[in-house]
Amino acid sequence: MAIKRNIALALRPGAYDELAPALSAPLRAALDAALDGRDLNEAEGLAVAEARGDALLAVADVADRLRRRTVGDEVSYVVNRNINFTNICFVGCTFCCFGKSQRAPDAYWHSLETVADRAEQAWSLGATEVCVQGGLPPEMDGTYYAQILRAIKARVPKIHIHAFSPMEVVYGVERTGMQLRDYLTMLRDAGLGSLPGTAAEILDDRVRGVISRAKLTRAQWIEVISTAHELGIPTTSTMMYGHVEQPIDWVRHLLLLRAIQKQHGQKQNGGFTEFVPLGFIHEKTALYRTGLARPGATVEEDIAVHALSRILLNNSIPNLQISWPKLGWQISRMCLDAGANDCGGTLMEENISSAAGEIEASAATPEQLQNFIRSTGRIPVERSTSYRVLRRFAAAAIPQQVVTPHQAETTQQEVHV
Ligand code: SF4
Repeated sequence: MAIKRNIALALRPGAYDELAPALSAPLRAALDAALDGRDLNEAEGLAVAEARGDALLAVADVADRLRRRTVGDEVSYVVNRNINFTNICFVGCTFCCFGKSQRAPDAYWHSLETVADRAEQAWSLGATEVCVQGGLPPEMDGTYYAQILRAIKARVPKIHIHAFSPMEVVYGVERTGMQLRDYLTMLRDAGLGSLPGTAAEILDDRVRGVISRAKLTRAQWIEVISTAHELGIPTTSTMMYGHVEQPIDWVRHLLLLRAIQKQHGQKQNGGFTEFVPLGFIHEKTALYRTGLARPGATVEEDIAVHALSRILLNNSIPNLQISWPKLGWQISRMCLDAGANDCGGTLMEENISSAAGEIEASAATPEQLQNFIRSTGRIPVERSTSYRVLRRFAAAAIPQQVVTPHQAETTQQEVHV
């Protein structure tokens, strides 16, 4: 079972002050440095990443304080729809159950018209963004990604298109023979608004060699993302955890993202808009079934990764997103108390994680996300892809209980546009 429902950990505000005298000297020094606003180095990051038990409560409390100081008590979400235009893929990542061979009975490839229909439907339901990604079909026309963008924009000119992982971009470059910069420029001119920073998994070629041997390398991922940032195309950033990696890999991955953001993002228009930790959904994957990976992250690891991400990225990537379909609502709430400030999107459909095992849900309405956020005592905010506030809603007086979106009554109280 992928969704963890027996949770013993109880995060609490003030845990750092209470527990500081009992913490190891390196951890206490690292947390004090973070509270002073300093960027931590690798050794300090590792002390934070390895904290468990009571020490993890102190780490989560520090992450929560940094979150409040940097982005306040609002929790944002975007009204969006996933469109996975094909599941045909030749790459064969061992952690993935979404990609299918061309001859598989459940292989599909939606036409440009179907993709545009879905975008139009999403827009009519209030979506401001579509997130378009797919498998890598053999022999695909290298300009097909641009064709998708033009088909959507012709139908829904104002929708933001968040599309194509760095892996897909590299594939498009290979198939067309174009230079990366020219290829990304072509996509931008065809309507690309931003790139998902997916296909990152863990940005370490040793780990990548185990979990996704045929996928793009660390250097290629960095090149695609950096070039996008230079061209003014914002991207998200992600990390998949809970498989073969260790805490030192989290730290190095996060420090790399921080360095990229400092080098490119903060000077250019956009950079990384957010960081999204993605827990490994293990159940049906070859990576897990062949004994190479552990069965996803523990609850402590979920909290540790979110808190560590806030602490290491607070000065460079202020938005930290939970992936509620993977975490489930209870752990999502805990991650919001451990540094996170964004609930991602309504999705409308989810096909990738759900292929690998149980997830919480594949869609949530805006009202359901608002009610979930209210149940944590925070303030719901609808945002654009680039984190511009579109609507701000009233907080509700139900802060002390976990309310899953499907239990909550809809009590929408919009206060500001
Ligand atoms: S993760 Fe992406 S590239 Fe890898 S097998 Fe799945 S669909 Fe293909």
